[in-house]
Parts: sequence; C-alpha cells; structure tokens
Amino acid sequence: MTFPLPPNATIGIVGGGQLGRMSAMAAARLGYRCHIFTPEPDAPASQVASATTLADYDDNAALIRFADAVDVITFEFENISAEGLDLLAERKPVRPGPDILRISQDRIAEKTFLNAAGVRTTPWAAVETLAQLRGAIESIGLPAVLKTTRFGYDGKGQALIQSPGEAEIAFALLNPKPLILEGFVDFACECSVIAARGTDGSITAFDTVENRHRDHILDLTLAPAPFDPDLRREAQDMAMRVAEHLELVGLMAVEFFIDAKGRILANEIAPRPHNSGHWTIDACPASQFELHIRAVAGLTLPPAIRHSDAVMKNLVGPADIAQWSQVIATPGLIPHHYGKTAARDGRKLGHVTTLFPHSALPGAFGIAAALGPLATQDSIVIFP
Ligand code: AMP
Repeated sequence: MTFPLPPNATIGIVGGGQLGRMSAMAAARLGYRCHIFTPEPDAPASQVASATTLADYDDNAALIRFADAVDVITFEFENISAEGLDLLAERKPVRPGPDILRISQDRIAEKTFLNAAGVRTTPWAAVETLAQLRGAIESIGLPAVLKTTRFGYDGKGQALIQSPGEAEIAFALLNPKPLILEGFVDFACECSVIAARGTDGSITAFDTVENRHRDHILDLTLAPAPFDPDLRREAQDMAMRVAEHLELVGLMAVEFFIDAKGRILANEIAPRPHNSGHWTIDACPASQFELHIRAVAGLTLPPAIRHSDAVMKNLVGPADIAQWSQVIATPGLIPHHYGKTAARDGRKLGHVTTLFPHSALPGAFGIAAALGPLATQDSIVIFP
C-alpha cells in the first residue's frame, strides 16, 4: 500500500472504545474503512466499523491476522504489550510508532523524555526501594504524590504523602514497583493541548483548553481555557515541541498543570485522541479525530483551528446517561452517545458540546444556562 492511503483503504484501530468509534466516524468521512481489534463484543467502535477482530490484546495469532487484514495500524488503547506492538510493527506501519507508545506507557520514561525536550515538569524521582522513597522525600519535599509508573489512569495507582510517617504504607500499597514520586502541584487549574504531526513533519495544535474533573474523571472542558492568551500559547508551543521531539506521526495530547505562580508544568502525554479534544468535532472545521486519521493515512494536515468557542461535558455513569432524553430535547446541546449498553458507575457513556461564537466563551452563569439540564453544582463552579 502506498501513502497517502487512497479511499477504501483499511485503517486498523487497536481498541474498541469511544475514541476508536469517533476516529472510525472521521475515517468514514474521508472514505476509509476501519477494522477494530478489541476483546469486547459489540464495542462502541465496532458498531461503526466495517470489521472487527474480537480477541485479547495478548493473542499473538489474532494480532497477526489483524495486521495482515489492514493497511496501517493505529490505536486508541495504550496498554498493549511491547511484544504485541512489535508483532504489529513488523507487518504494517504503526502510527504513532511503538517507541512513542513505550514512552507514554511509563511515567519515568515520559518525564525523562519531557525534561530532555526542554519541557518543565514537577520535580520527580524514580523509587524502587523504601530507602529511595525516603531519599526522594528529602529532596522533593512534602506533600508529594507516589504513583505506579505503568497502567495508571484517572487517578488510580496514586497515593498522596503528607507526612514522612505515611511513606512506608504508601510504598507497601502501590504495586508493581518501580514507583515514581512527584512533587505535589498546588495547581490553579489543569489544561491540555492536542497536537498533530503529519508524515511530512508539519505540526498543528488546537488551542489550550481547561479541564475540570469530578471524582477524578474529566467532567468539563472549556475551549479555549479562560486565561491569559500568552499562557495558552506557551502550552501550545510546549506540546508542539514534544510532538517534534517525538517525531510523532499522528495525534497526541499533552496534559499540563498551571501552578499557583502561573507556571506551566507538563504532567503526561497520550499519543492518541483525547477526551479533552471531543469539542473539536463540533467547533472546528477538522476535528482531532480527522487530524488523527489524516496523519495516520499520510494526508496533509489542515490547521487545527476552531470556528467557535465550546464547552464539552461528559456523560458519566447511570445518573448522567439517565438524562439522555432531556439532552436530546434541549436545543443547543450537541449530543454524542457512545452506544454502550452497560452503564456502570464511572464509565464514560457520551458527551455533549455546546458552542459559543469565537472569543465569546461566557462566564459561569452563561455556561450553566447553555448546559441546561446538565448544569450541576459541581460543573459550574468555575473561574475561581
Ligand atoms: P494522572 O494519572 O497523572 O493524570 O493524575 C490524575 C490526577 O491526579 C490529575 O489530573 C491531578 O488532578 C492529580 N495529580 C496527579 N499528579 C499530581 C501532582 N504531582 N500534584 C497534584 N495533583 C496531581
């Protein structure tokens, strides 16, 4: 197969969740077919794709069959094993490349990489033994956050250490080792930038957005982040620098903290479409999913510009999705349902976007009014 991929070529997506679903929908618009690799029957992505390989991520024979059936491979699920990735990469181009996935899978590799690319993070140290943890507490200070280095998500696999006496229990609780100790950031807000880089090396990044969490899960994204445009540009520049240093082909998100002094500190990278970019489907000529598919397919990248400001709100768990009929009935809420049949607590089941004219993102009350039935106490306490 030659690149750019012609229409009707097949893009293989590892992972069957909503990120794969929205990527497949963007791919369909460009004339591509998607083949999903997932262990989950009736996965959100499979519902909108032309083929699915239903198998576990460590089923090597199935991975080989999948690779043989597609023209290029990308992923929406990051925790595939290094061996599985190698199997795929031996057979078909994998975009973003396996090395990038390995960096993002390991917090120590990730922070090492970010610092080497000249991107500031909170101070951190690798911790393999209790003695090392005590040493790291001496040098970094308290409070600090002890984290597993792999397979953590949405705040899982983390312990806040506030006094030296808590070190031993935190160390015993978190597995597998090694761990990473990070200086606690007393952050004013969390934000993120989504950047894409094409096969020709061109890079584009969406504006910096602010992310608000509820129970450690993303609740609201405000696009753009309602703070100083210079700070927004700085975060964008940092994300583009990361994409450049990684020699990324594809799309990635960089998550940042803004600390109390207004400094930007990178927290993590995700080399795939990201929940904080869902607003781009409705507020941009080319969404994060289109840029992802274009980069993977070797097409040129249009600029990551928006025509509107936007607020995205996640629908998480049974209580949120119970409001679906009100969401559908509310003018101005743009609905996105992920087709999941089981509504467990903490599961992302859909989202809504609401649009505002460019540069006219309102304050808390305006956003609450636009969110209508979805405005909650949690989600509207904004702009501290
Ligand atoms: P992570 O798994 O690194 O994305 O962390 C999940 C959440 O925990 C973040 O969104 C923050 O709210 C919080 N968190 C993680 N690391 C730190 C840190 N070093 N200081 C303060 N809060 C943190």
